[in-house]
Amino acid sequence: MTVNSRDLSTSDPELYRAIQGEINRQENTIVLIASENFVSEAVLQATGSVLTNKYAEGYPGKRYYNGCEFVDIAEQLAIDRAKAVFGCDHVNVQPHSGVQANIGVLFSVLDPGDTILSMNLSHGGHLSHGNPVNISGRLFNIVFYNVDGKTERIDYSEVMSLAREHKPRLIICGASSYPREIDFAKFGEIAESCGAMLMADIAHIGGLVVAGVHNSPVPMSDFVTVTTHKTMRGPRGGMIMCKEQYAKKIDSTMFPGTQGGPLMHVIAAKAVALKEALTDEFKQYQHQIVKNATAMADQLTKKGFRIVSGGTDNHLFLIDVGHRGLTGNVAADALERAGICANKNGIPYDTRPPRITSGVRFGTPAVTTRGMKEKDVLIVADLIADVLLDVTNEEMLRRTRSRVEEILKDFPIYRHKLEG
Ligand code: PLP
Repeated sequence: MTVNSRDLSTSDPELYRAIQGEINRQENTIVLIASENFVSEAVLQATGSVLTNKYAEGYPGKRYYNGCEFVDIAEQLAIDRAKAVFGCDHVNVQPHSGVQANIGVLFSVLDPGDTILSMNLSHGGHLSHGNPVNISGRLFNIVFYNVDGKTERIDYSEVMSLAREHKPRLIICGASSYPREIDFAKFGEIAESCGAMLMADIAHIGGLVVAGVHNSPVPMSDFVTVTTHKTMRGPRGGMIMCKEQYAKKIDSTMFPGTQGGPLMHVIAAKAVALKEALTDEFKQYQHQIVKNATAMADQLTKKGFRIVSGGTDNHLFLIDVGHRGLTGNVAADALERAGICANKNGIPYDTRPPRITSGVRFGTPAVTTRGMKEKDVLIVADLIADVLLDVTNEEMLRRTRSRVEEILKDFPIYRHKLEG
């Protein structure tokens, strides 16, 4: 096998250097992107395993290919553990991503032209909840609910009246940038009152739900989708949970309906992450994520920043930088120059376009994985305040970057040095 040299540094030095660069960037950056995290070494090992070589169309025990006895073990472990972790009737662990999981649900139970009621992207929802630029918005009739203009929280009475008026077949709840606890029981009542099915997308808050830090949508939802790489701290991917009555439809919509061969190395890594999610350490970790987000939001409020909805109940918060005369892109770029990585984000009723925005979104899953506690993230919040109050001061940004690198020496991501 001549091209298959064991050592990436000699077989593909350009790529090796890119991976080394990324290792270095992750180690020396304070990652506050709310949807990112650092997986364990065990998850990394499974993701990089030879399971990537195997085709396994179908499901455990019912494959279209021979030689699936070991990947069957991996997928069955992922299924059994997901059921234990979330307490759901049925789970499909094959979606390659969160969007694939959402599309899987829509295509399994809806017909083109059906009405979906979901949260507006610019109020915290997700592209795959029916935005016109996404496939989810192209075939269905989408009605959006917003957050209240004053409280910036979901207005459940507005959701109820939209549901009564438009009689959707499916209601979608769950969000990408909503800092408050979602009342899933309320959504269950609304769906029931208008005869709609309910899908909860807990892509962001999956880990919080597992730990009981956020209420669970599993009992009252027909479908629950989740990504495995955010607060769940697993490999990139998605899963669909559903009531038993939809199991066959969901499975056939994923394969052969919308995907081909499952990513068996990723499914194995999902199994590893789900085993980790069953531990007490994982539950404590989720509690710490929320404590850290709250501490940061409070500190930034003290420093005079307006936090969307006045704070947070979960792992993320949004600063309205427009309130300080800044735009989200300028703010996020200045933070990056200072070694702090967050993302520009629209805020409710934002007047600026998505590439500019008036907000920056911050989340604490990754820094909490590195071991930061409240006292540590307070220092980070102060650094953020310094940057946002003086975004063009390049000398200060350079000093902050050195400070960031110094701080992070006490919070290594991995015990062993990683090689590309
Ligand atoms: N759903 C929600 C609520 C999300 O926030 C995201 C990603 O950020 C997704 C779905 C999509 O996940 P993926 O990027 O894995 O497709």
